[in-house]
Amino acid sequence: MILVIATRNQHKVEEIRACLGEGFDYLTLRDFPAAPVPVEDQPTFAGNAAKKASMLARWLAEQPLQSQTVFVLADDSGLEVDALGGAPGVNSARFAALDRGGHSNSTDAENNAKLLRLLAGVPPDRRTARFRCAIALAQVGPANRAGEMSEPSGIRVVPEEPLIFEGTCEGRVLESPRGTAGFGYDPLFLPDGYAQTFAELGEEVKNKISHRARALGKLRSWFAERVKRG
Ligand code: IMP
Repeated sequence: MILVIATRNQHKVEEIRACLGEGFDYLTLRDFPAAPVPVEDQPTFAGNAAKKASMLARWLAEQPLQSQTVFVLADDSGLEVDALGGAPGVNSARFAALDRGGHSNSTDAENNAKLLRLLAGVPPDRRTARFRCAIALAQVGPANRAGEMSEPSGIRVVPEEPLIFEGTCEGRVLESPRGTAGFGYDPLFLPDGYAQTFAELGEEVKNKISHRARALGKLRSWFAERVKRG
């Protein structure tokens, strides 16, 4: 079974592979440089993840993939900070760039600097935050094998609505970065119940407790059920 991960973020790819295991043949957007790039303009993580998964699944349906079952997985995720009314939220990747009126992503360093600037003077007990992740799963299988619709010619069928799996991880934002592992806001995020940031805890612990790990755990259970059903 092929799982195409709709991202070029290598950190996300590694986290997803570590959480889902070796039961799939993984491909990513690096394997499909001509794939369309969606504008992430939806107001929710689930909306953006669904948009990314659907667009890639539709495009893949036109490509000469062998007659195998192909799933597309898209992740949309970000940090919600209570003292900032939920920002950066769906704008997490382009948080600093928003100030320049840009739509492209900012660097992690720029985003973290902006977050610290906006939270300057906010005491530790009011720096509560959570990472949120929505995973969208769409299928691009030969229709007759996918069992969704039976087209005698084996036309590939993309279901309209991808399945959505969500996960959150509660914690708070520190006053200065700690640690070097991970990516994004990891050095500033202290998950509840831990004395180290995501960037200090490293991938083994992060992959057990993170928002992405929790969403992927639900996805893993869904696949296990599907295999059981046959
Ligand atoms: P996306 O690629 O559009 O989903 O944007 C996700 C953005 O949210 C990233 O660029 C990071 O800034 C932030 N983010 C999402 N997940 C994580 C994480 O696990 N650690 C740190 N930052 C994250």
